[in-house]
Amino acid sequence: MRCEVVAVGTELLLGQIVDTNSSWIGEQLALAGIDSYFQTKVGDNHARIVAAFRQALERSDAVIVCGGLGPTQDDITRQAIAEVMGVDLELDDEVAARIEAMFGSRGRRMPMNNLLQAEVPVGATAILDPFPGTAPGLLCPIGDKVLYAVPGVPYEMRAIVEQAIIPDLRARAGVTATIRSRTLRTWGESESGLAERLAGRIKALDVAGNPTIAFLASGIEGLKVRITAKGSDDAAADALLDAEEVELRALLGELVFGLDDENMEQAVLAMLEQRGLTLGLAESLTGGLIAARLCDVPGASAVLRGSIVAYASDVKHDVLGVPEGPVVSDTAVEAMAAGARRVLGSDIGLAVTGVAGPDGQEGHEPGTVFIGIDLGALGAGPTSLASRLPGDRQRVREFTVITALGALRQQLLGVDGPVGLG
Ligand code: ATP
Ligand code: MG
Repeated sequence: MRCEVVAVGTELLLGQIVDTNSSWIGEQLALAGIDSYFQTKVGDNHARIVAAFRQALERSDAVIVCGGLGPTQDDITRQAIAEVMGVDLELDDEVAARIEAMFGSRGRRMPMNNLLQAEVPVGATAILDPFPGTAPGLLCPIGDKVLYAVPGVPYEMRAIVEQAIIPDLRARAGVTATIRSRTLRTWGESESGLAERLAGRIKALDVAGNPTIAFLASGIEGLKVRITAKGSDDAAADALLDAEEVELRALLGELVFGLDDENMEQAVLAMLEQRGLTLGLAESLTGGLIAARLCDVPGASAVLRGSIVAYASDVKHDVLGVPEGPVVSDTAVEAMAAGARRVLGSDIGLAVTGVAGPDGQEGHEPGTVFIGIDLGALGAGPTSLASRLPGDRQRVREFTVITALGALRQQLLGVDGPVGLG
């Protein structure tokens, strides 16, 4: 079974939006064990969309089309599909009723052109979006092949692909084996360092063939180690993943801070919450970014007391009690951490100061960052570490967030020593 992807939208060609839909669908096809050899992008032009669909159907058994299913003038995917199928569009009453009901429930009058979304090529079936009321997907049989269409909006697209299209493709392909994956997220070791630690295990897995592991460097998201396992069913694949996770954790130890979508913010908040500890921040070069990232996690309020954005030197001195002298230094950042604890009344204080660039400051190169941690009753006074972080201003500031949180995590684990870069 071969399935390819066609993304529709002139904005994709102009670089106004990045085609993340195709890459996500590609990953899902790979995980489902379905071959995928082409991905195409085509603008909002009827003849070219039709040509793209025809070409895709010639060389693949199935095609997933995303985008252009909405109610506006430039949404012409359904007309193009009808032309390829050689049929007309007809109103699907069930879909129309759903769209009307959605507008009714929100107390809004429905613009008539929304009913265009209920038009389905004759012979095709609407795939109702699990989020009620939004545009449906389409399942269109074409000879012994199939074309699926999904909306361009990523979360709608994902729901339909996951819940309807992948199961349908697997059934058509007669795929009975299942492939599942799990990602261990690490911080504190370089990619080559990680490869070195895992060298023996990688060799053993290469010989056995199932499961497999792969590294993914994900910038400020850390370094990911993904395990992929094939089994006769989900439970069998999961059992392989469980066993491999145990093996890898034994080799990686505390470098692993989370699983799958769990990020460093969540990991640190969970650790603090388990220990019943609150956190206060003092942020210079990050300007509140650490607090913002922590606040993205639901329930952060149980832990985070607040953040003092101390940008100007006199704010560091007056509000946080940083002694006169350089403000990009270990002394300054330790005083900031202690000051954050005191002013915000938290158990733990975490502080960052440094040079985001592009210019240097106080004789330090851009990317120089000091991290201060005051563990309060758990520690013997504030401590600090210095890092040189890579990249431009934005990257330095973002790397500072995960580096500071990673350092706090290490301290909470009772491990000393500076945390390296991911
Ligand atoms: P709508 O009902 O919102 O009009 P649609 O099916 O017509 O949905 P488009 O108009 O093509 O979809 O795209 C809607 C939005 O979805 C785009 O503005 C963009 O933000 C996002 N989007 C579309 N295609 C992609 C893609 N390939 N990758 C990532 N995002 C996309
Ligand atoms: Mg649209």
